[in-house]
Amino acid sequence: MIWIQRKIKRVEFMQQEKIQHIKNFLLKKMDELRNVAGNTLQRLKNNGEKYADVCDAAAYEYSKAIDLAVRGKERNMMLDIQETIMRIDRGLFGICDHCGRKIPEERMIGAPLSKLCLPCQMDFEKRNGMLRKRFSQKVKIKNAY
Ligand SMILES: [Zn+2]
Repeated sequence: MIWIQRKIKRVEFMQQEKIQHIKNFLLKKMDELRNVAGNTLQRLKNNGEKYADVCDAAAYEYSKAIDLAVRGKERNMMLDIQETIMRIDRGLFGICDHCGRKIPEERMIGAPLSKLCLPCQMDFEKRNGMLRKRFSQKVKIKNAY
């Protein structure tokens, strides 16, 4: 019994250490994203430039659209990381949002932003896939008339 308790404590300690390691990694990633987002924002602010050539103006508009899209992705990633850091601080890291079961450590190390265990994630994707399928069927029916 004592041996089991000791083993559990040791496992929990190791997990805590790994969680802290993941948190440090996420904080570092957050800083990187903040820098990239800052640079993108700076480029977007410099839109006072005027182009005499239509092609230059079009190229500029195109790159601006790409910058905006990238900024959206950076923003989403930053929000996901912030949420994960909050989950770590509240002791919810590695617990499935849907079923409340522990998410295997390998999954949390491979995909630290996971909020669902694999079966719940697959169920979610399956249902989403089914919704998309149903939606496309509706569109097809509509187009047939
Ligand atoms: Zn689950």
